[in-house]
Amino acid sequence: MNELVRATRLAKELRVLEVDRLLVSTPVNVRYLSGYTGSNGLLVIAAGEQSDHRFFTDFRYATQSAEQVPDGFKREIAPAELLEAAARALGTGGSPGERTLGFDDASLTVKQHARLGELLASGWELVPCSGVVERLREVKDEAEIARIRAAAELADQALTGALEAGVVGRTERDVAIELELRMRRLGARAPSFPSIVASGEHGALPHAEPRDVEIARGVLVTIDWGAYLDGYCSDCTRTYATGPLSDEATAVYELVLRAQEAALGAVRAGIGGREVDGVARSIIERAGHAEHFGHGVGHGVGMEIHEAPRLSRTAGDEPLRAGNVVTVEPGVYVPGRLGVRIEDLALVGERGCERLTGLSKELTLID
Ligand code: ZN
Ligand code: ZN
Repeated sequence: MNELVRATRLAKELRVLEVDRLLVSTPVNVRYLSGYTGSNGLLVIAAGEQSDHRFFTDFRYATQSAEQVPDGFKREIAPAELLEAAARALGTGGSPGERTLGFDDASLTVKQHARLGELLASGWELVPCSGVVERLREVKDEAEIARIRAAAELADQALTGALEAGVVGRTERDVAIELELRMRRLGARAPSFPSIVASGEHGALPHAEPRDVEIARGVLVTIDWGAYLDGYCSDCTRTYATGPLSDEATAVYELVLRAQEAALGAVRAGIGGREVDGVARSIIERAGHAEHFGHGVGHGVGMEIHEAPRLSRTAGDEPLRAGNVVTVEPGVYVPGRLGVRIEDLALVGERGCERLTGLSKELTLID
């Protein structure tokens, strides 16, 4: 699906919302709808069948935007402020409140909002419209799925390489740096988030930063990493053993794996994010670790590492849809002792899901 098809889908949504135009200002949404990857760009999407979509940038991006933005957008190189150019292009709005311009109230600053109010001709009314583009982005098209799949495969390959030389005696930071370097060498633009390598008691922190501390033998090591490739993210976590483990560590590992597989097995179109969370949570609670699993079981992944839909106790009632790409990542964190998290990235289908992360989840010894 090309970008113009996405703009057309959005235009239909706007008609339902009774919004005449939508100002798209966040770079990730501008990229999703127009293919433009520069840092300064603005879109105005027209509702319904009008297809009077406009793109604004400054002279630095004249060549780049000519190559990236489809012909279906009227492209304008603004002499000064993009908001001013957009307001001018909207023209007069007729009588007060006659026409509506949607804006992203989750990202437009108060200052930009005030400025826009000054610039717009009378007749235009500003209406908050956050989440409209994000909602479209939740369901991935074929091209997007191919990119996420490629990012996940690249990340798998990078970790496999990074573990070959062993980890015992190396610092967490050193392993994280090697992993990130390997992802870059394999073609990733960047890691999709700062990699986590957390061993022993440090693994009890879900968002641990890799330390300058050597990884010991006989402990658990949690590695959470992902690649950013062609505008899309991957996300995966594996927990490994660096030698014979304590009974407690082995038991916690087996418990998290059981919870993860059960939740993954529940993922399909029509199930709620809260329900998937509950599948993993009830298993962990029954084992007496309720207070050691403090985060939601998963989140959407796409152009951003954390996006809708959420899979958690506080997720809305909206069911998952085919084409969602979500993580399933329960964890058990025993303060001061150890932590285990196991995470897969999965493509939601009508009857189940397809795992995009391919590495084994059997408790594996790396030394
Ligand atoms: Zn992760
Ligand atoms: Zn995640």
